[in-house]
Amino acid sequence: METGGAMQDRKNICTVIRVEPENQEINSLYLQTPDDAFRARKAGQYASIRIMRSDGWSEPHPFTISGAPEDPFIRMTIKKEGAFTSAIPNLKPGDTVKCMGPLGVFCKDIDARPAIVMIAGGVGITPFLSVLRHFRNTHSNNAVTLFWANKGKDEIICADEIKAMTGELNLKVVHALSRDENAPAYYDPAYPRVIYEKGRLNPEVFNRHGVFAGPACYLCGPPPMMESALSDLNQLGIAPDTVERERFSWDKQ
Ligand SMILES: Cc1cc2nc3c(=O)[nH]c(=O)nc-3n(C[C@H](O)[C@H](O)[C@H](O)COP(=O)(O)OP(=O)(O)OC[C@H]3O[C@@H](n4cnc5c(N)ncnc54)[C@H](O)[C@@H]3O)c2cc1C
Repeated sequence: METGGAMQDRKNICTVIRVEPENQEINSLYLQTPDDAFRARKAGQYASIRIMRSDGWSEPHPFTISGAPEDPFIRMTIKKEGAFTSAIPNLKPGDTVKCMGPLGVFCKDIDARPAIVMIAGGVGITPFLSVLRHFRNTHSNNAVTLFWANKGKDEIICADEIKAMTGELNLKVVHALSRDENAPAYYDPAYPRVIYEKGRLNPEVFNRHGVFAGPACYLCGPPPMMESALSDLNQLGIAPDTVERERFSWDKQ
């Protein structure tokens, strides 16, 4: 007879469908899971994965599920940081991965928020990609302003999809490019709701694009960028404890 532990273990075993590069540093991993728990996932949740190494299963690492909750597969969008994340592009279709989840509460009630400000830094876009894909699937009319900080245009992943979403959703996108002098020149009149700002996010940029106390604010990015954004929002009358946040780092045990 199969033990509870063995059944649990089998439930967590997923199959790699494919790995697709998003840019030089970021890859999307697509997984097939037999675990019914993932069917009830919410946009913005994450899962914890282990990969098989020569000495057995690796330690678990958390990644947001960047695909929509309606997708029949799990998509994670993963930036190369160290040994674990750099091994992701080597996964092949049919390989097995252990996947635990769904986990977390970031963006839990976002469907019910009529006006939303999303602030992302780099790969911190992943929970918002999930929410926007979900809004597209559900024909949502929530008014969203997405601020996304990157160093340059090359770091913007899923650029065409996001541009198209500004025509499908009630969505405006403000790219803040900290090391790209040409930023404003990327404006394309075919996508009037996609704006490019030169430099980092700051109170003036938030203010110019209509951020004020009222909309529900969500923030995800590297810790220094998050601290800076919280201070900017505070200056605009938005208290830090009202800003929902996801940290992509955790305290070492
Ligand atoms: C809730 C959540 C969601 C996330 N979603 C995404 C996502 O969608 N896409 C994405 O690219 N990344 C995401 N991350 C970050 C991702 O989990 C890490 O980048 C990855 O686990 C680093 O593993 P690594 O071995 O490649 O790098 P490492 O070489 O291990 O480390 C890279 C960096 O991560 C830190 N780190 C690694 N392991 C630990 C640990 N156990 N405790 C504390 N700090 C550690 C290191 O100090 C270093 O600064 C998320 C993290 C969290 C907590």
